[in-house]
Amino acid sequence: MKHELDVVVVGAGGAGLYAALEASRNKKVKNIAVVSKLFPVRSHTGAAQGGIGAALGNLEEDKPEWHAFDTVKGGDYLVDQQAAMILANEAVDSVYDLEHNGLPFNRTEEGKIDQRRFGGHTRNFGEAAVRRSCYAADRTGHMILQTLYQQCIKNKVAFFNEFHLLDVLIDGNTCQGIVAYDLATGELHTFHAKAVLLATGGFGRMFRITSNAFANTGDGPAVLAQQGLPLEDMEFFQFHPTGIRGMGILITEGVRGEGGILRNCDGERFMERYAPTLLDLAPRDMIARAITTEILNGKGILKKPQGDDYVHLDTTHLGKEVLEKKLPDITEFCRTYQDIDPITTPIPVQPTAHYGMGGIPTDVNGQVFGDTKGTIVEGLYAAGECACVSVHGANRLGTNSLVDLIVFGKRAGSSVASFAAGAQHQPIPVNADDRAKKRIIDLSNSSSNVKQDVLRKKMRDTMMDGVGIFRNGNDMADAIETIKELREDAKDLSVSDANAKYNTELMDTMELKNLLDLSLITAVSAHNRQESRGAHAREDFPDRDDANFLKHTYASLNKDEVRLEYKSVDTSIWEPKPRKY
Ligand SMILES: Cc1cc2nc3c(=O)[nH]c(=O)nc-3n(C[C@H](O)[C@H](O)[C@H](O)COP(=O)(O)OP(=O)(O)OC[C@H]3O[C@@H](n4cnc5c(N)ncnc54)[C@H](O)[C@@H]3O)c2cc1C
Repeated sequence: MKHELDVVVVGAGGAGLYAALEASRNKKVKNIAVVSKLFPVRSHTGAAQGGIGAALGNLEEDKPEWHAFDTVKGGDYLVDQQAAMILANEAVDSVYDLEHNGLPFNRTEEGKIDQRRFGGHTRNFGEAAVRRSCYAADRTGHMILQTLYQQCIKNKVAFFNEFHLLDVLIDGNTCQGIVAYDLATGELHTFHAKAVLLATGGFGRMFRITSNAFANTGDGPAVLAQQGLPLEDMEFFQFHPTGIRGMGILITEGVRGEGGILRNCDGERFMERYAPTLLDLAPRDMIARAITTEILNGKGILKKPQGDDYVHLDTTHLGKEVLEKKLPDITEFCRTYQDIDPITTPIPVQPTAHYGMGGIPTDVNGQVFGDTKGTIVEGLYAAGECACVSVHGANRLGTNSLVDLIVFGKRAGSSVASFAAGAQHQPIPVNADDRAKKRIIDLSNSSSNVKQDVLRKKMRDTMMDGVGIFRNGNDMADAIETIKELREDAKDLSVSDANAKYNTELMDTMELKNLLDLSLITAVSAHNRQESRGAHAREDFPDRDDANFLKHTYASLNKDEVRLEYKSVDTSIWEPKPRKY
């Protein structure tokens, strides 16, 4: 089946919905469709708990410039600084835009949007923690999705739900549309569009312990990488310090923002030794490493130096009122998954793979770069976690992903609409869906007994153990070899379910292949970065090395090899300095 549209947005998380809404505000653009493998409000944005950072200054003095500085410093100076300024400045208007569209933020007594503290967000360039995170209890992302989805429906955006992106049509340097698989029927649909915007979210499912939903398999970046397009800074993957022990389900940083304290087996507030000023509200990479170091030194609660040990997040001094009113979901998670009550018992936590700082390289209007020289792929845009603007550098601050969605999702929506308003459809070949068809046929015709669950488990273990919180050259080299072998095995994967309707096995297999490609790119990018910066911590190169590595990685896949190039970082506002908190 074929559809002709002005703009196709792939992904219905915060970034995709905001982009679609903003595009629909342009009266010159008629047909806007969102294609999503999930029903929109099931997107991972709905799991976001803690909040959106914006320097509203509702409770104490705050300035966008301080927010931008914190973002740059938090990202260990790998952030493009003018982009960080845009992020911080435009966050304020975007939060009010969400408010005016109906988002039920928590309020101060005077009726203003309430704000709480979050890691790495400070006043006056690092003096002390500041209240910057705007929130709706611990359900901020859920509220964003509901708000944006309703507004999109109101503006008559069309939705194709449970449609999986399989291919992006690019001829030379021009994007002409996409091909997607309709899960309900098994049919392929070609969306011929003037412009395409990818907002397919994160790819944390490449790791064993992760906070990410099952759907976070990086399909958008992977499909572009499979066509030889570069991905930026993929070596930087954030581990959130507080996942529920053994499960990885997130305990928001908002818990520490409300006063929660991390303690080791001696009951010691160990962050006093690692970040004397910001303590439990230091950036995530530092806290995740601190927890791991405590565990390796035998200071975990089990007192065993091994991976599944944990520490305590103590909330027992916060009181019933704060926990049940401001953190109701977290309180419920603890009761449901750990059978403990955080009002009286500390929460067992361990770091969990959380957020990919890297992704599809774009400019500040969401236009995709095809190379390090800044060549634009005409008609192709990306926003949200799948994109790399880059405002998160080597480590993202809490709340800044939702800011990224609502600032750069909105900007990308506005620019994709302006582009489509002045563009013509580029002709596509009659058999535009051939490549997608071949991907399905190859899987359906294989008779090997390679099992996808075996490969998936091995991939997740390999990435967790070889390319995790602490890394070194030897382990990463081994991980690269293992991932290459797994990709080789994956060529023989077969699908036993022959049904056309709701063939989730087929889609799971596609997702696994995508994750394997991204795992290889991540591991090779990490192996080549011989320094420690932000979330990339190397035991064999413990220091940051600005002389050789203050640069963005561009990694492109060429069959079984990854080609690396580098691009300079915009440091036009603040000179890189060592990070101290
Ligand atoms: C548990 C958790 C809590 C978080 N809390 C916070 C927080 O408090 N503050 C903060 O700033 N950040 C937070 N984050 C991070 C933030 O929520 C995410 O980075 C962000 O929501 C991603 O939004 P997105 O729009 O890019 O993608 P998503 O919301 O993940 O949406 C991706 C969309 O793409 C679609 N899609 C994917 N693949 C395909 C395909 N092949 N075909 C068609 N459609 C496809 C999906 O259906 C989905 O609609 C949290 C993340 C997690 C996991």
